[in-house]
Amino acid sequence: MRDWMILCDFDGTIAVDDVTDALLTKFAAAEWMRIEADWRAGRIGSRECMTAQVALIDAPQQAVDALLDSMIIDPAFPAFIADAVRMGMSVTVVSDGLDYAIRRILAGYGLDHLPIRANRLLHDGDRGWSMRSPFASPACAAASGTCKCRIATDQAPTLLIGDGQSDFCVAGTADYVFAKDRLIEHCRTKGIPHSSIADLRDARRLLPRLPELAGMATVFS
Ligand SMILES: [Mg+2]
Ligand SMILES: [Zn+2]
Repeated sequence: MRDWMILCDFDGTIAVDDVTDALLTKFAAAEWMRIEADWRAGRIGSRECMTAQVALIDAPQQAVDALLDSMIIDPAFPAFIADAVRMGMSVTVVSDGLDYAIRRILAGYGLDHLPIRANRLLHDGDRGWSMRSPFASPACAAASGTCKCRIATDQAPTLLIGDGQSDFCVAGTADYVFAKDRLIEHCRTKGIPHSSIADLRDARRLLPRLPELAGMATVFS
């Protein structure tokens, strides 16, 4: 079962709630919701949306850290990682959220050694914040900050675990998908091979059956 590469979404999949939304709700001017409406209506991509929203955050680092430290993750995630490692699979956290937030939250569980591909959150040292998108892809129609289809490689069979719109573009190229919430309907509509999950406990239960589910002649070692 070696060589499988797992791409795991963060907000709504590892983190129970959307961390960026929590930061904006607490620290950004109300204008962030108007920008959010533009994104929901499809007038702008998530990269443009989040870049504008993060610039509205007005908070010292200490306050941001305190909020991040109150965010909780799916309780099955640490055991899921342990299982994946035991099975020789690699796990990369791929997120259209903010790298600093993800790393800090994972550090609370001793899991910040996992590779993270996400938007970069920058702090001006006072109360100002900004966002960069090192993993954006001009080639992808999704116009995400982090384009997950750019991070996937064809060097290893790929399992995507995710729940929402930021997972749509890569779902079509992954070898198999563990889908939650809105991603379930997307996979159904597009005929993408997937299993529906309610949480990471389900993902953990399905993981040993992955090669069988994906229908691949994987060599067990
Ligand atoms: Mg998500
Ligand atoms: Zn993409």
